[in-house]
Amino acid sequence: MRSFEELLKESSSIHGHHCAGQVLGVRMAMVGCREVGIQEPKGCKKLVVYVEMDRCATDAVQAVTGCSLGKRTLKFLDHGKMAATFINTETQNAVRVLAKDDARALVKLYAPDAANPREAQKQAYRVMPEENLFSIQTVLVQIPEQEMPGYRGARVYCDECGEGINFHREVRTGGRTLCIPCARGTFLPNSNGLSKPETNPKVLLIVGSKKVGKTTLIEKLIPELASRGHRVATVKHHHSDFPVSVDTAGTDSWRHRQAGARSVALVTPTDLALFHNTDESLALDRIVANFRCTDIVLAEGFHLEPYAKIAVMGDADGDPRLRANRNVIATVGPTMPGSPVPSFEQGNVRPLADHIEKWMLGKFESPKTSPQGHLGFVLHSPLAAAR
Ligand SMILES: [Zn+2]
Ligand SMILES: [Zn+2]
Repeated sequence: MRSFEELLKESSSIHGHHCAGQVLGVRMAMVGCREVGIQEPKGCKKLVVYVEMDRCATDAVQAVTGCSLGKRTLKFLDHGKMAATFINTETQNAVRVLAKDDARALVKLYAPDAANPREAQKQAYRVMPEENLFSIQTVLVQIPEQEMPGYRGARVYCDECGEGINFHREVRTGGRTLCIPCARGTFLPNSNGLSKPETNPKVLLIVGSKKVGKTTLIEKLIPELASRGHRVATVKHHHSDFPVSVDTAGTDSWRHRQAGARSVALVTPTDLALFHNTDESLALDRIVANFRCTDIVLAEGFHLEPYAKIAVMGDADGDPRLRANRNVIATVGPTMPGSPVPSFEQGNVRPLADHIEKWMLGKFESPKTSPQGHLGFVLHSPLAAAR
């Protein structure tokens, strides 16, 4: 391998400027290659590097190792950490090199005369002993076959956007093959769903008698639907007319309300709570209109609202109120004789989530209404529409 000075010069010229990141990245790459037994990384086809940062140092690692995204030898893990893992795919030797946080505190010691903090970092990282600068850890990395540089895989097409997908990056969900952004609902990762167009969320009511397990079901459905890329919101109907106690007396927001504000938003760095005086009982669609960037709203109660419902059954007879209920798309709990809709177990929400996904995508088959239907389900039948 060429000398540090030579590599630094080349790396800074590729990167566009000379910075502390170049010094750190060049040293990091030299250490990584040495530790996995690669004398000359350029042109060697056995090195794969996973970088955990997209900073100046990343360019230095690329310049020194010759690994690149295009060659599939440089992999980016968006961890926001100043670390890189070097893997010799021939010997399976691998090390993770992490820049130590403590090194920053030592900068002054190694560059006492520097003109400014930036210069100090550049100078100090050049001369700081390796053990002060990096923590080096031997790791065991099994690169998946489809991640290997020369891998060729079948090309498939996304059922939603029609774009081609390579290297098995497709996601299979609800019987469909989707690309990652279509499955996640956003084009960019970590964008909190904001880039997904705002659509009216689907509303699904979870209905049933008291203490029949509605909340438990919702608790299980939320992570299951979220893991499939859906943004879930919930609404809970509470019958007591006590004021919501989060907004405690004496706090400023409480005083705003007492002074007559109809709505008060309480904002913290992590939460937003909106208090709204409901002098009339709010229709669900007005509540749901407040949810932005949501795919599905699970509402507990509201059984008289004209939305699709999942009926949680306490026994095979079910709740008599449900007999008058239309738009039940499934039941959970004991199966009712003659029920025209599918019945699911409380303990296993996956099949139920599959069913909900089909309903969300509008690919839902209306069950045939049974003439002797115990509950009088009339889902999507022309008769129901005429009534
Ligand atoms: Zn830079
Ligand atoms: Zn797609």
